[in-house]
Amino acid sequence: MSEICPKCGLPKELCVCDILERETSKKIKVYLEKKKFQKYMTIVEGLSGDELEKVAKSLKSMLACGGTYKNGVIELQGIHKDEVKKALIKLGYPEDSIDVA
Ligand SMILES: [Zn+2]
Repeated sequence: MSEICPKCGLPKELCVCDILERETSKKIKVYLEKKKFQKYMTIVEGLSGDELEKVAKSLKSMLACGGTYKNGVIELQGIHKDEVKKALIKLGYPEDSIDVA
C-alpha cells in the first residue's frame, strides 16, 4: 500500500503538492484535438518534467482513460475537458491557472 499525502489525500505517487509548492504561477491549457477517424483527444499543455509524468498518470487513473505524454503535452483519449479541470483542481492546481478552451 502506498502512503497517503496529508495535504491532498491522494496516494504519494499521484500527488503533486511538492511540485506545486515550487511552481505556482504556471498556466495550464486544456483543449480538444480531433484525430483520425473522428476520434477526439483531450490535450493538457503547460506542464514539464516530473510534473508532466505525474499529472499524466494521475489524470489517466482519475478519469480511467488511456493517454500518453511527451514534449510537455498530455494527450488523453476521449473528451474530458471538464473532468480534467476538476481533476487538476483536486490535485491542487488553482482554478484560475487552468484555461479550458
Ligand atoms: Zn499531495
